[in-house]
Amino acid sequence: MIVVMEKDATEEQIAHMTERVQQLGLKAHVIRGAERTVIAAIGRDRATKSESLESGPGVAEVVPISAPYKVASRELKPEPTQIQVGQFVAGAGKVGVMAGPCSVESEEQIVSSAHAVKKAGATALRGGAFKPRTSPYSFQGMKEDGLKLLALAREETGLAVVTEVMSTEEVELVAKYSDVLQIGARNMQNYRLLEAVGNSPRAVLLKRGASATVEEFLLAAEYILNEGNPNVMLCERGIRTFESHTRFTLPLATVPYLHRKTHLPVIIDPSHGTGHAYLVPDMSLAAIAAGADGLIIEVHPTPETAASDGYQSLDFAQFEATMARCERVATAVDKQLVKMTQG
Ligand code: PEP
Ligand code: MN
Repeated sequence: MIVVMEKDATEEQIAHMTERVQQLGLKAHVIRGAERTVIAAIGRDRATKSESLESGPGVAEVVPISAPYKVASRELKPEPTQIQVGQFVAGAGKVGVMAGPCSVESEEQIVSSAHAVKKAGATALRGGAFKPRTSPYSFQGMKEDGLKLLALAREETGLAVVTEVMSTEEVELVAKYSDVLQIGARNMQNYRLLEAVGNSPRAVLLKRGASATVEEFLLAAEYILNEGNPNVMLCERGIRTFESHTRFTLPLATVPYLHRKTHLPVIIDPSHGTGHAYLVPDMSLAAIAAGADGLIIEVHPTPETAASDGYQSLDFAQFEATMARCERVATAVDKQLVKMTQG
């Protein structure tokens, strides 16, 4: 339920009610909106406890949250959440682009990619060091050596680094070298991993499972938020359907739908979503037109020789041309595609 404080509630009253919520055995999340502060009281047996909160000092009303996800819901927080990591910004009118190779392969490959995507207007560098591959015989990633190369590329360009973490044991290691922890589609319902990144100081990019419903996706985000990490971005990366002309089916209606249900920023991955480089530019534009708060795009110096996902990766020139078009679409829908200002 939500404890809605009066517009002029004092800090003491907010602190008092936060304590009251905790005394009832519920978790308290304080959310400060432009208009007023609300306290989300999360836990079981809420119904019996709402009455005792209603009469608290500075309380306007106590209302239930009807969605199964609570902290992620728009009911709790009507204003959109904006996530800022270094110069990367997504949400509330700002569009941020993360780009780079599927996998980190070498210093030359990741550093040249970082310079190229920065020049084209990206503010974050993607690159997998721990790779979740369908086959155990496929390239599994450079692991910690790959993380070190990502950190080096960040040092050279100032781009924020987003990279996947696959297991709870590796959260600390990946967090040491990166700015955004990516939870891959295959791990969207790995609940212990979600809790572990929920306890990390890093922002999280949560990818939708290929067979997950939007409600399951939001409940996965709720696991992270419920641990106290508010910096979660949702990434639609395509779902599995009967259709086979694309690698996955990229449902762009998910963007406005998610915006209706949650305040969290929505990122689109047109690379995995289509599985074909030639489809990526147009779907990037479509994503921004549909209201996406950001994109994550696979870009490789020589897609033909990529260790993974080369067939869906743009080369530098294709990425640059796509970004110029994306910027125009963002402007047309009253948003700003945020680029690097320095560094
Ligand atoms: C990736 O980003 O390279 C990746 C493996 O993505 P997903 O988890 O969406 O398949
Ligand atoms: Mn990939």
